[in-house]
Amino acid sequence: MRIGFGYDVHRLKGGRKFILCGVEIPCEFGPDGHSDADVALHALMDAMLGALALGDIGAHFPDSDDRWLGADSSELLRHVYGVVNAHGYCLGNADITIVLQSPRVSPFIDEMRSKIALVLGVSVSEISVKATTEERLGFTGSGDGVAAHAVVLLKRI
Ligand code: MG
Repeated sequence: MRIGFGYDVHRLKGGRKFILCGVEIPCEFGPDGHSDADVALHALMDAMLGALALGDIGAHFPDSDDRWLGADSSELLRHVYGVVNAHGYCLGNADITIVLQSPRVSPFIDEMRSKIALVLGVSVSEISVKATTEERLGFTGSGDGVAAHAVVLLKRI
């Protein structure tokens, strides 16, 4: 088995779609970035790549490459999981924590888990998504940004 950890942050900006784990959250602001800026899926992909010591998504999908401009991170995740499979591994389980002050995302957690499970072709019971605030402290607390942490366990196919 292999374990991996991923972490990502995006600045929040007015007029951007708020997409988390492939699910659009109704909101008048959202994470800024080159792709759709899905901070949770970015952390998840980095965890998968980290588990196999394959670098990070910055190396696989450089933001200097316009192929990834506005990219759907669900498609990037599908690609990364294909790389994982090609190396002879599949997902054991994944655990994601999203850190943000607002909006409230708890009503969307089950949809997020289902979306990730669908993209990866795994059981929803292997996918955990949690959300927390940082009690109005720091850049997430002030609403300047959103962060996500992810841990994955990969197992031999
Ligand atoms: Mg990112």
